[in-house]
Amino acid sequence: MANTTSTSGRTRRAEIAGGGFAGLTAAIALRQSGWDVRLHEKSPELRAFGAGIYLWHNGLRVLEGVGALEDVLTGSHTPPTYQTWMHNKSVSRETFNGLPWRVMTRSHLHDALVRRVREVGVDIRVNSEAVAADPQGRLTLQTGEVLEADLIIGADGVGSKVRDSIGFKQERWSATDGIIRLIVPRKKEELGDGEWDNTIDMWNTSPRVQRILYSPCNDKELYLGMMAPAADPRGSRVPIDLEVWVEMFPFLEPCLVEAAKLQSARYDKYETTKLDSWTRGKVALVGDAAHAMCPALAQGAGCSMVNAFSIAQDVASAASIEEALVGWEKRVRPITDRCQAISADYAAHRSLSKGNMFTPAALEAACYDPLRQVSSWPQ
Ligand SMILES: Cc1cc2nc3c(=O)[nH]c(=O)nc-3n(C[C@H](O)[C@H](O)[C@H](O)COP(=O)(O)OP(=O)(O)OC[C@H]3O[C@@H](n4cnc5c(N)ncnc54)[C@H](O)[C@@H]3O)c2cc1C
Repeated sequence: MANTTSTSGRTRRAEIAGGGFAGLTAAIALRQSGWDVRLHEKSPELRAFGAGIYLWHNGLRVLEGVGALEDVLTGSHTPPTYQTWMHNKSVSRETFNGLPWRVMTRSHLHDALVRRVREVGVDIRVNSEAVAADPQGRLTLQTGEVLEADLIIGADGVGSKVRDSIGFKQERWSATDGIIRLIVPRKKEELGDGEWDNTIDMWNTSPRVQRILYSPCNDKELYLGMMAPAADPRGSRVPIDLEVWVEMFPFLEPCLVEAAKLQSARYDKYETTKLDSWTRGKVALVGDAAHAMCPALAQGAGCSMVNAFSIAQDVASAASIEEALVGWEKRVRPITDRCQAISADYAAHRSLSKGNMFTPAALEAACYDPLRQVSSWPQ
């Protein structure tokens, strides 16, 4: 049975910094197992940043575990095939041996988690920025307020202040490529003949390196991931340079015209963060704060959610939070580390352009089932 009381007999309390996918998942999972949970988000509201997102079996199982799966399935899409094109010719069609996967807008996923966070009774504080934590279980806010807890979770993203205030040893680097991510109207009927419900990973290596990850999210919304090297001033320009993109992907012109209208478009480089440890005393880091990874395998959020959910599993019946966190890292980290390494390697060599690159090793994290704590698909 879950041990949700501290040695003094009161209900255990967690303070969580960050209201992204990792923080929301940890908050729901801990609350579901009886903890008092307060979530701090530095922005004025809980909202998603970015455009679209892929979730695989591992992330979908977490959603099941936190009671948000049905909500997410409505309004998201599983494409019939993941196709890879090189110079506008198909080189592979993958279906992952029936492994569940799903594409959606980030706001769709985030909204579902926020609804669930409210439903289970997490105490939410917006405009609440964490600036430091200490291993004894204290979280300091930007206002100077210091909060004590049995567990502090740093889910405050790649620039984590919780992490940096404690001084975890870390390596951080950016890949040579980056991406402009946008949601545009589907415009399917204007695209001409084609299997436009598929995910299509469209690569070009000449005359320039440009890639579009074409990802339908539902009947109305299309996620475009438009990749170009950071050194290419036209490919990385925002708002997008319509001419260079239409030249390379003429058949997508109706969607690209919509993309060019988006003044808020951003070019983001791929970041990787590797730490010596994810825990210190009563503090645990989850999500990009601990293990930001290149998006080649579309697993950053999936691993973040699995790891956040797993914390709640591991502290549930623990006499010592500190020991439970050490055990948690030992248990979940190897899969994330391997996924991060393959993602970095694929990004460095643009390996996905070859097609058929979702090998068993590349799908290891996706196949993990956090509810049953087994790593395989199909069963
Ligand atoms: C181009 C690209 C494509 C990707 N595609 C996918 C994909 O398809 N599938 C997938 O699984 N992953 C994908 N990822 C990875 C995924 O986006 C991240 O791994 C995931 O969003 C990490 O979630 P998080 O909650 O850890 O961090 P974040 O999403 O960064 O959330 C952190 C939250 O904390 C808040 N915050 C920050 N600092 C503080 C503070 N000091 N105090 C309080 N609040 C704070 C922020 O405002 C934010 O709300 C992609 C990443 C990139 C770059």
